[in-house]
Amino acid sequence: MKIIYSPKCLDYCETSHPESPRRVRESFLFLKEKGFEFEEPGLCNEADLLLVHEEGLIEKVKNGNFFEADTPDLPGIYEYAKLSVAAAILAMETALKGGTSFSLMRPPGHHATKRRLGGFCYFNNLAIAVKKALSSVKRIAIVDLDGHHGNGTQDIFLGEERVVYLSLHQFPAYPGTGAYSFENCFNFPLSPGTGEKKYLEALAEALEKVKKFNPELIAVSAGFDTAKGDPLLQLNLFPSSYEKSGKELASLGRPIFSILEGGYSRELPKCIYRYLQGLIKEES
Ligand SMILES: [Zn+2]
Repeated sequence: MKIIYSPKCLDYCETSHPESPRRVRESFLFLKEKGFEFEEPGLCNEADLLLVHEEGLIEKVKNGNFFEADTPDLPGIYEYAKLSVAAAILAMETALKGGTSFSLMRPPGHHATKRRLGGFCYFNNLAIAVKKALSSVKRIAIVDLDGHHGNGTQDIFLGEERVVYLSLHQFPAYPGTGAYSFENCFNFPLSPGTGEKKYLEALAEALEKVKKFNPELIAVSAGFDTAKGDPLLQLNLFPSSYEKSGKELASLGRPIFSILEGGYSRELPKCIYRYLQGLIKEES
């Protein structure tokens, strides 16, 4: 298990924004204490961004020429967002070489569509890594476990025959999409207060579809705002629930890379740790 991480991702901050550097810093320290190994991402270039995003969006982020209340125009955000993309790419490459990997970075990505940023996301880290991987593998399954619907990822891959997208998320909630499934995008909307039992049933149903699709690679949008006590959502999972999810994913026996998305409670470090434990236990 390799964790992709750069302390540079802690260097930007918007006062009282839930997507704070603290959440990643505390997770890094917790995982370090548990003995995990870390690797720093390199750089990504504009060609990588163009695999997914329209030039207009890239220019906007580069020049700070936008206003979005939840996704602020902060100094240097273009470089931070690119570093998060680079980490996702490295996580994907690690998985293709046979290792399991987790990108512990910010900003997150799954709300960024082809042409729009939003929901704390500037560029769609996971989508860019998946597009890049499609040059060496035939089929990829994306499992989006963030508590919000990944409207950006769905926008990017809708109708792409070589990708299947599955998302478990609270509904109704931000961004208001994900009530229905379309083509290759399967959505599992869950009511507030769902809890572990029903959640894991929905996950088992989603993973059946993954099995059927027979992917060569699995990409996970690993969000932890599904945890009990999260200030944004009410899906009420426990840290131990993530170990179960990790185990189920690993039991599919395919290379897996995971990218941190949301997760805003103080339990985030523990939730990530248990998720990784689940992935590793099945691995060994
Ligand atoms: Zn979320």
